[in-house]
Amino acid sequence: MKILNNNLSLQIFNTLNKQTETIVPIKAGHISMYTCGPTVYRDAHIGNLRSYLMADWIRRCLEYKGLKVTHIKNITDVGHMRQEVLEQGEDKIVDAAIKEGKTAAEIADFYSKRFFKDEKTLNILPATIFPKATDHINEIIEIIAKLIEKKIAYTIDGNIYFSIQNFKQYGILSGNIKINNLLNNLRIEQDSNKINPNDFTLWKKAEKGRNLKWESPWGEGFPGWHIECSAMSIKYLGNFFDIHTGGVDNIFPHHEDEIAQSEAYTGNSVVKYWIHGQHLLADGVKMSKSSGNSYILNDLKKLKIDPLAFRYLCLTTKYNSRLNFTFSSLKASQKALFRLQERIWIAHNDINLATNEQDYYENTTEIWEKKFLQCVYNNLDLPGGLSITWELMKSDLNNKIKLELIEKFDKILGLKLISSIKNFKTPTNIQKIIQKREKYRSEKDYNSADRVRNELYNSSYIINDYTSKTLVRPKVKWEKYNNLWQTYSSSKEIENLTKNNPNKKFSIGIVTFNELTELKRSIKSIFKFSKNNNIEILIIDNGSNHKIGRWLEDISSKHENITVIHIDHMIGEAEAKNIIIKQSMGEIIILLDLSIELSGNIFEPIAKALSDKNIGLTGPYGLKTNDLNHFHDGEGEYGYMDAMQFYCFAFRRDLVNQVGFMRKSFRFYRNLDIDYSFQIKNYGYTILADPNLPVIKHQHSVWNSMLPATRDELSKKNYKRFLDKWRNRIDLLEINKNNNN
Ligand code: AMP
Ligand code: ZN
Repeated sequence: MKILNNNLSLQIFNTLNKQTETIVPIKAGHISMYTCGPTVYRDAHIGNLRSYLMADWIRRCLEYKGLKVTHIKNITDVGHMRQEVLEQGEDKIVDAAIKEGKTAAEIADFYSKRFFKDEKTLNILPATIFPKATDHINEIIEIIAKLIEKKIAYTIDGNIYFSIQNFKQYGILSGNIKINNLLNNLRIEQDSNKINPNDFTLWKKAEKGRNLKWESPWGEGFPGWHIECSAMSIKYLGNFFDIHTGGVDNIFPHHEDEIAQSEAYTGNSVVKYWIHGQHLLADGVKMSKSSGNSYILNDLKKLKIDPLAFRYLCLTTKYNSRLNFTFSSLKASQKALFRLQERIWIAHNDINLATNEQDYYENTTEIWEKKFLQCVYNNLDLPGGLSITWELMKSDLNNKIKLELIEKFDKILGLKLISSIKNFKTPTNIQKIIQKREKYRSEKDYNSADRVRNELYNSSYIINDYTSKTLVRPKVKWEKYNNLWQTYSSSKEIENLTKNNPNKKFSIGIVTFNELTELKRSIKSIFKFSKNNNIEILIIDNGSNHKIGRWLEDISSKHENITVIHIDHMIGEAEAKNIIIKQSMGEIIILLDLSIELSGNIFEPIAKALSDKNIGLTGPYGLKTNDLNHFHDGEGEYGYMDAMQFYCFAFRRDLVNQVGFMRKSFRFYRNLDIDYSFQIKNYGYTILADPNLPVIKHQHSVWNSMLPATRDELSKKNYKRFLDKWRNRIDLLEINKNNNN
């Protein structure tokens, strides 16, 4: 393929001098580029992958010009991999690995392989070398020794620190003024050994029981977080190289410290262009594993979404803007990508969708190519490049030119646009059926032609009749699965009916994720004991698998008072319960946990209790507290409580218009019940526990499926959320009310 050879060049924002600059290679014809790579004790989430996509697009832009790019992406297999993480079993696979007696190296190897696979799936070009931190301990030691020699680093009790006072340029990347603020917010441990608390660790003495450790001139230990990138970038790219990339969170401290180490070591400036990508957000905050809002590529695959749809989604927002990830926008990208592929396939079959076909003239391709490059080279304006791609496909240019240009554009976009045509391939037996149908059409037997079309449609093929010919293609995955039943991505998409008049006495709300046995038990018991009551059952399918999705569809089609709302991925507990509240049409809402089986009629006693308008909330399992520090259960007492547990949680629907919905920040279910109880009490209502309500409490499958460390941590976080809001409201406690009276 002949590539336009002109003087257009990539211009990009350099974090170092805060200017958009033209990339001029240090060595003509060659680019050396370093990308901070993955930490391999867990899967990379799609936020991480957004950063690697940015690096990939930069590289593709440079290679398009014919530059040879040497791309280094390191594998962090030490440093982040803290011993506590392993011991706490925070991660199921790490935990499993420990149980199976796997070593840290085996875990790192396991996740590295998964990372390479994810990159391949997203069509990210593999780095020239993926060096591992643990293979570069000698290089790391050499740099540290030199820094000690230059008196820029100091040793205390087997630990080595970088003295930022002795490196005048410190702050050059992130801005000196900001440094103190940033340092205050930092996750680094307060280490009393440091001369200046802002000094950072180069080498740490191995604590007792640590396996990942190395001999060094300063005793057994392991490297700090930043030094590996200095060592590996200099080793593979030399003392002065072109480009260094990462996410904006890397600017400080990681890259600031890398500059300090590398420059103090070499005595010169090491990186010419520092490029940082903005974050992928979810629910408005940075996606990260610890925030509990991260997704991995496999989560998208489970939804039968082509992972390249995520690549497409990232193309729709500039690298230097935040991108809020939602499953709805991902699905929209999936559709858009598919439409683009479909148009290319149609062009490939030389069908004209545009009216006036333009004649091919000498420089048509060049004009389009230039327009595209000017756009993407302008600080990586890929959204602009994508719209030019669409413009091209919708234009009246002839198909041959279109395809030629698409092949060129896709060298940068990386959407596998040309090879996607194979997704549209139709087997020969189907081709034969089509020929038969063409015959019907030529004989004007349209009934038979339509019958064939419907038959094919039901067996997963789609037929399109154009003036010149008929094209048939297999349905793509998401057309086959996602259209089987309606799915939603968030509570925002669900209508709020709470202002409408109720048309049922009770709405029973259930949230489920892959719990078939429990669902069957629960629904059976509800039917058994609600015979004469006017009820509806609302089930939120919180991202269950296909089998359970199908089962729920079946049961809801058989029983008109069962409604199922399918969510395409797991959303937070508060959000899921809010959907129940929004859609309930019963005067009374009963939220039922799946560990609960009814053993009698709970409806009449609940209605009776809630007929007292002072009572806001009722159920069998109350909680009491003396001081908000600790809640204990109501010990089978009938009477007023401080909170009601979610096992069975009943309130009047009209209350919601007064007290509001549950707080969405509660993604995990625990302590959300306490929080909402207080929300209700805050409006002067009381909470009544009736331990005689006929229910049986079984094992809690969600709780049991979680690792103790994880559930404790999540519970604590939620408890803190609760306390942050209600800590000062001891006036709401029953114990204080009694005293006042
Ligand atoms: P880590 O594995 O945490 O070292 O991160 C690997 C890369 O992903 C780094 O370049 C980070 O800056 C980047 N990164 C982390 N979280 C996000 C996010 N939510 N969006 C975009 N990039 C991210
Ligand atoms: Zn790095």
